[in-house]
Amino acid sequence: MLRIALPNKGRLSQTVLDLFETAGLKAEFSSERALVARLGPDFEAIFVRAADIPEYVADGAADLGITGADLVAESGRDVKELMDLGFGRCRLAVAVPEGSAIQDASQVPGGARVATSFPCITRSFFHELGTEIEIAPVSGATEIAPHLGVADIIVDLVSTGSTLRVNRLREVTTIMESSARVVANGRVLDDRDLRPLVDGVTAALESVLRARAKRYLMANVRRDRLEEVRRIIPGINGPTIVEILDGSEWVAAHAVVDQDRVYQTIAQLKEVDAEGILVTRIERLMP
Ligand code: AMP
Repeated sequence: MLRIALPNKGRLSQTVLDLFETAGLKAEFSSERALVARLGPDFEAIFVRAADIPEYVADGAADLGITGADLVAESGRDVKELMDLGFGRCRLAVAVPEGSAIQDASQVPGGARVATSFPCITRSFFHELGTEIEIAPVSGATEIAPHLGVADIIVDLVSTGSTLRVNRLREVTTIMESSARVVANGRVLDDRDLRPLVDGVTAALESVLRARAKRYLMANVRRDRLEEVRRIIPGINGPTIVEILDGSEWVAAHAVVDQDRVYQTIAQLKEVDAEGILVTRIERLMP
């Protein structure tokens, strides 16, 4: 049995549960407030704070974990990153009060007070710039600190930037980009019994992510236009062509297409007189 540490609440938790469910690994809780759940026959999930996950994985209390790259970096723990899940995207950034003359983190003066819940990353970032700063540790609502006079500037996670703007702060420098990552305990990767389970779960998650970027497209097309259809929807190995009962000069063409090009693809198919175009989501895709 492989144990996977997942965020118990916060921004990543529901998205992670949905991802596992789509991958065929639905969390089965034994009671409503259980902190442990079965994830299919081979896996067990433990639900802990996102910030504690690198620690649990490094210690071996869990074999795998899913959490933000920012939290992995802040923990300084030795875990192996296996996958970037691509959601939970944000950046850890330095922000200053709107009226400040500072345009770049390199202009932050020595002794500046920096409010952040990422003290390790922040201290080493400024240290590399040759600036020794003072940390004002906070565990949330960091953007309020300069207005309360407890800090001069902040280092915080930003996704759209709207929270900074509302709090009259200006982003000056990105320290790191973050998104949800799958991390592993290094020993598990060398374990002959556990390694296949690790590979199984990452392949299942990858198949879901790959499928999300694709759509399955079906269209009725004229047999004599198949060469043009092949150029429009090359698919993975060329489109699948299916006979239509009593279709005479018509056949059905099926192909996997890029989700972000579906609009253009449909327009191109209409130009070759395709009919009955149908686009559906794909649950999992294993090439
Ligand atoms: P939380 O919801 O505070 O438990 O955050 C968990 C993780 O979600 C963070 O460590 C980040 O990796 C990620 N995250 C993604 N977008 C944001 C954002 N705009 N603000 C804070 N965290 C974010």
